[in-house]
Amino acid sequence: MPFFIRKLGIDLGTANTLIYVPGKGVVQNEPSVVAVSEQDNKILAVGLEAKQMIGRTPESIIAYRPMRDGVIADYRVTEAMLRYHIDKALGKWNLFKPEVMVSVPAGVSSTERRAVVEAAIKAGAKSAYVVKEPILAAIGAGIPIQEAHGFMIVDIGGGTTDVAVISLGGIVASTSVKCAGNRIDQAIADYIKKTFNLAIGDKTAEEIKIKVGSAVPLEEEITMTIKGRDFIAGLPRTAEVSTNEIVKAIDRELREMITAIKDVLQDTPPELSADIIDRGIIMTGGTSQLRNLPELVYRRTGVKASLAKDPLYCVAKGTGVALEHLDVYKKSIIAKR
Ligand code: ADP
Ligand code: MG
Repeated sequence: MPFFIRKLGIDLGTANTLIYVPGKGVVQNEPSVVAVSEQDNKILAVGLEAKQMIGRTPESIIAYRPMRDGVIADYRVTEAMLRYHIDKALGKWNLFKPEVMVSVPAGVSSTERRAVVEAAIKAGAKSAYVVKEPILAAIGAGIPIQEAHGFMIVDIGGGTTDVAVISLGGIVASTSVKCAGNRIDQAIADYIKKTFNLAIGDKTAEEIKIKVGSAVPLEEEITMTIKGRDFIAGLPRTAEVSTNEIVKAIDRELREMITAIKDVLQDTPPELSADIIDRGIIMTGGTSQLRNLPELVYRRTGVKASLAKDPLYCVAKGTGVALEHLDVYKKSIIAKR
């Protein structure tokens, strides 16, 4: 029997957009990029194809990252992105318009949230629901958010670090800072440039971060040979990097993330603080996988922190769970049917 998709969850991340189908899991994972022609403002491509255009196309094409820094900047572009993903997930033969759940950054105003609901309807949804991302991250991490306990969820993605305390299905205290994986990559590239006179691309910086990077110094360091272009001679060259120099290179970025967590802890009502101490901080998002990041959070705040299961997929999974239990989560949902 064919699998007709009736429900679709969309995690509009700053780095990646994930599509989740209840019963199937994550079916699409593409960069949150839209290519727009400069001349007539036409949308040329979305997702992978758009990303591939960056840097390889004539200058008349602009690569938009509509979720950049966690803010929905351009609704026309957002709608195009939603339409692309909905159409692709449904395929040609799907008979039904789906119910669609979209995650939005916690800082997005209620007017903006309603605009996303409208955009999803225009993009082909039968009904559309919008939930704030930290709530979905928590649901996807398996946290019973409806309970009268305080939980702290820290989602560190590409563009933003989002910190939220959730109780009774609502956000009690939160902040969002524009410092996450991309800024770490940039700090690594700057360090390599300064130290070795070597220019490296975004991809290489990210690879260094994942392969040798760490949030706290290691006794047994990991080393890696990197390839780049010499700034002075302009020729290809290699250099060796190891963990502890990277730890230092990204210190400022790590501090900024920790400060965000501390700020929210300080804003949290005392009873809920007690809950957070008992349950610990739960971390989600790609960058939370940086080696020893939960350990650093513990050292700097005194509160235990742990990585959720499948940290990259928590928000996406949360959209699916929320779609299947709309009644349970109705307090957290903005909807249009
Ligand atoms: P967003 O929700 O903002 O789209 P994601 O949660 O998908 O972001 O996370 C993307 C970020 O996670 C990127 O900066 C990527 O480099 C980083 N990342 C992915 N895996 C790892 C890892 N193992 N260690 C450190 N960073 C990682
Ligand atoms: Mg995310």
